[in-house]
Amino acid sequence: MSGVLGDIPAASPGFDGAASRRLLARLRDVMAGSGSGQERLDKIVTLIGMEMGADVCSCYVMRAGEVLELFSTLGLNQDAVHNTRLRVGEGIVGDIAGHARPIALDNAPSHPSFAYRPETGEDPFLSLAGVPILRGGKVRGVLVIQHKDRRRYTEVEVETLQTIAMVVAELVAQGELVNPQEVASTGDPALLPARLSGTSLASGLAMGLAVIHRPQLTIRQMVAEDAESELERLNAAIATMHSAIDDLLNAAALAGLSEPKDILETYRMFAEDRGWLSRIREAIRVGLTAEAAVQQVQNDTRARMSHLTDPYIRERLLDLEDLTNRLLQHLAGRKSEADGSTLPDEIVLVARSLGPAELLDYDQRRLRGVILEEGSPSSHVCIVARALNIPVVQAPDALTRIEPLDPVIVDGDHGQAFVRPAEDIQMAFAEAVALRARKEQMYEAIRALPSVTRDGVPISIQLNCGLLIDLPHLKASGAEGIGLYRTEIPFMVRSTYPDVRAQTDLYSRILDQTDDKPVVFRTLDVGGDKMLPYIAASEGEENPALGWRAIRIGLDHPSLLRQQLRALLRASSGRPLSVMFPMIAEVAEFDAARRLLDLEIARLEGQGFEPPSRLRVGTMIEVPALLWQLPALLPRVDFLSVGSNDLTQYIFASDRGNPRTSGRYDPLAPAMLSLLRRLVEACGDAGVPVSICGEMAGRPLDAMALIGIGFRSLSMSPPSVGPVKTMLRSLDVAALRQYMGGLYQRGDHSLRDKLRTFAKDHGVII
Ligand code: PEP
Ligand code: MG
Repeated sequence: MSGVLGDIPAASPGFDGAASRRLLARLRDVMAGSGSGQERLDKIVTLIGMEMGADVCSCYVMRAGEVLELFSTLGLNQDAVHNTRLRVGEGIVGDIAGHARPIALDNAPSHPSFAYRPETGEDPFLSLAGVPILRGGKVRGVLVIQHKDRRRYTEVEVETLQTIAMVVAELVAQGELVNPQEVASTGDPALLPARLSGTSLASGLAMGLAVIHRPQLTIRQMVAEDAESELERLNAAIATMHSAIDDLLNAAALAGLSEPKDILETYRMFAEDRGWLSRIREAIRVGLTAEAAVQQVQNDTRARMSHLTDPYIRERLLDLEDLTNRLLQHLAGRKSEADGSTLPDEIVLVARSLGPAELLDYDQRRLRGVILEEGSPSSHVCIVARALNIPVVQAPDALTRIEPLDPVIVDGDHGQAFVRPAEDIQMAFAEAVALRARKEQMYEAIRALPSVTRDGVPISIQLNCGLLIDLPHLKASGAEGIGLYRTEIPFMVRSTYPDVRAQTDLYSRILDQTDDKPVVFRTLDVGGDKMLPYIAASEGEENPALGWRAIRIGLDHPSLLRQQLRALLRASSGRPLSVMFPMIAEVAEFDAARRLLDLEIARLEGQGFEPPSRLRVGTMIEVPALLWQLPALLPRVDFLSVGSNDLTQYIFASDRGNPRTSGRYDPLAPAMLSLLRRLVEACGDAGVPVSICGEMAGRPLDAMALIGIGFRSLSMSPPSVGPVKTMLRSLDVAALRQYMGGLYQRGDHSLRDKLRTFAKDHGVII
């Protein structure tokens, strides 16, 4: 096919880096010169058209209601100016705005988005290259060039257009072309109370005054005269940025925060990334100021990645934005706004997105809660926020609905925020906080009491952990051990695969901090939506939950799994070790994983290491197929742990990550409870300990049902320990067993209501 394209001539022969620099220099003169915004825009459009040899150059500017208006053109009918309007998503221009990414076409009318507008006289033009005009992460317009015949646009041309679009973005931002009020929020009248409903990213409840985090700086000068001095400025800013990140690292280390420290270290590596820095330097050499170069690279990265849905990459993009903003602050010689002594004592931070370092810039004693427009629970900023016990809510339109210093309640438990809350909401908040405090006191009071039911049945409460910062909870909660250590979480906050030494160090630190309480290490459960950037992904899986994940990756990349097992064995030298494999679907997979472990044990012994004092090997029960292989499986394992999150999704064929299906089926359905009962019975007969570590184990009513079924070991996240222990200490298991005996065969959608009635009638505190 290259022959077909090869026949198409270049759009502007001879338009190279030097031509691009010339054009930018002339643009600088236009921007610095006199004239209204419209006059300067007209000059810019004419200049581009002529310098790039285009038949058409047009600029569309975003107006209220997401409408793109033709503001200036060379080559189209002048009558169309201020008359032709396209909605975002309409036509190729609307497509560029909708996706915030450039398009270069040698045959525009054949593009599926092509929309013919007769008033522009556009039909004779075949080729088109257009770029979004971006500012502050929002699309402010579109810049387009066209040629009559079929032409091939080069990278230099598209990049030049992107750079010019940044200049035009400044013109738009100056407010002369469109009144800024017009494109600002048309949301609720400012002073009315509002409830923002969104997603919970970190649980908890907090109230404070809104501080709007606006890292975006206005870049006044885009084009530089002396590239060398701009490069020097960049180098100086990078050096100060590094030392500022080092200060944060030291502060995190002093505060004993291991995870933020790890994350910041990754972050510094990011800041030292040669690819990123060399792209900025290249943009400076092309003629931009250091600030403009930083922003150009950022816009470019954003545009390239905007269509990617991989959550890991999107999160890294947010990290990069954080770094970009930091670098711009340092270039401007400005201190971060977080330093301001004028900030309120109780801060609710509101931001489009936030990096972990930016969060740590704020005084942690004053930071109460965070509201983000963009973010996900596994983003670095949320990991840090959870470690600091700060609730985080994601609400898509937060920045347009919240004004600086508005009182705001952040309800991280329910994923909502109340802005300028009315008195009744404030009272409800105060009550909820008081209730929480009372409950905390109650949980504290029972912490040292035995975990036994009212009729004397001991129940082992274990923790689910994944970060070093979780470990202090082990002592504080009185849990017996760690029933699930999700080893993938530390892997996910790094940008490179940790070597055996780094892993050994991490696992040793975990074991050192757990005071000889047992820890069950689950081997890497990545894949699906938890892809690590340094493991080649199997592209575009249609059903990631059914795809290449967990043990499947471990068995396909045995060296990866062996390295992890080696590190676990070394870290446990002379002390007990429990290893659990995730997503095992058949006994043969367990055997294969076990073989790798045995190989590592032999290797360890061959090297003269002391082996673990006791080794226990088990598997998660997440894939239903394993339930039909129990007779073969049970003699091979030392323990089992039910991953009810995955088991529920596979049993009901109901994606746990899809809001339309995740709540559709209840794990307290007769089907789920009866299969779990059979599993517990089989384990009892075989003398194999079985635990459960899915989310249901941490919900008091569900945990009650699990105990009724026969589970005697539950593993849950730290905040669930108090409520579950309170529940079980008020429970009579014998009565519950009898009650549940008649329920398993019922045809109900869920037994939740029946179990709730039992709890109420029998004084079980749920
Ligand atoms: C589960 O599937 O229930 C489980 C505990 O594993 P994860 O939530 O990490 O997939
Ligand atoms: Mg699972």
